[in-house]
Amino acid sequence: MFDKQVTYKRNIVKHLYFAGELSCADLSTLTNKSVPLTARMLNELIGEGTIVEKGYAVSTGGRRPLMYSLKPDLMYIVSVAMDQLVTRIALLDMHNNYVGEVHSIDLPLAGNPNALRDLGQHLKEFLKQAKVPKNSIIGVGVGMPGFVDVVKGVNHSFLKVEEGNSIISYLESVIKLPVLIDNDSSLVALAEHKLGAAKDRQNVMVLSIGWGIGLGMVLDGALFRGHNGFAGEFSHIPIFMNNKMCSCGKSGCLETETSLVVVAERAVKGLQEGRVSMLQGLSLDDMEATSNAIMEAALKGDRFAIELFSETAYNIGRGVATLIHLLNPELIVLSGRGSLAGKLWMAPIQQAINEHCIPKIAEDTEIRISTFGYQAEIIGAAALVMEHYDTLRLAKSKTAGDHQVV
Ligand SMILES: [Zn+2]
Repeated sequence: MFDKQVTYKRNIVKHLYFAGELSCADLSTLTNKSVPLTARMLNELIGEGTIVEKGYAVSTGGRRPLMYSLKPDLMYIVSVAMDQLVTRIALLDMHNNYVGEVHSIDLPLAGNPNALRDLGQHLKEFLKQAKVPKNSIIGVGVGMPGFVDVVKGVNHSFLKVEEGNSIISYLESVIKLPVLIDNDSSLVALAEHKLGAAKDRQNVMVLSIGWGIGLGMVLDGALFRGHNGFAGEFSHIPIFMNNKMCSCGKSGCLETETSLVVVAERAVKGLQEGRVSMLQGLSLDDMEATSNAIMEAALKGDRFAIELFSETAYNIGRGVATLIHLLNPELIVLSGRGSLAGKLWMAPIQQAINEHCIPKIAEDTEIRISTFGYQAEIIGAAALVMEHYDTLRLAKSKTAGDHQVV
């Protein structure tokens, strides 16, 4: 498809995107190519305006190597982060900086036959307003909840397409750019593993706390997807005898006692029953505003709001205890929308682990809050595009023939 040098250069670009800065020796090791060949490619990439020299690395005793990084405005990625209620669209550069505003759209997915068409229209509109040339955008990464088949490009839960069609081909026909899709929790895990709190770790459980409790599993250094790609349905493990109906149609799932929806429902009920709190006028009609208000109140020290998170976090911890027993992870990362509540999650989760885990198995498992937080899915959608950068069909530029990058 591409000649060897183009493939190698794209591979270098990919490694620099994920690492930020690398030396010639680092790149030679990572790509398994000789140092002279790597040095020649780096010189060509500098000449082409793709990469820049970043000066010498901090000394570790020997000769300090010259470091290279990607030019941030080299090219751009459109990231789409969907959850069941809200879709965010952002344009990111090669250093994962936002270019312009993040567009946030109310786009309910459950029972919405127009969801895919609406997404296509919003993307088209977003691209029309983007402040960069379209041929500098290499692709669109889309994260979405549900059972996503990334190969066939379909979602078995939402954004339904007719038999034989795919979400990918539909969106590509509307926006004329390469599109990649994946499950939202997998993208949160990808962001954390490649660029965030789980970087360079081998066995990590990345929880995505939102309208459900998503899970991305990094096992032996790679994202584990299971036989059909549906691994990690943490939200639906049956650990409660509460007779509460779950969104999946079963009852007693982890999600029935732990999502931000549950936090909001308990908050509204508590206030109706006269609980004292700085929270006022909450409504379940605007779930996003309500859950943000509760997180804000909890961070300001509101006792009732903190209690809501403690109860939820303890229940998440019961689920985490199961994960620790099964998979012996070195790290649990709390990510996603709910991680904005930060440290409030940590102590109750740890408490549940203390109560429910065999100490020997849990003693080396660390819990960390994501530094990406609510941005993790957006970063993950961009990382998804860059993961496939070496095989991506790039847009043709009328002025420069093939895409001018590499
Ligand atoms: Zn369920």
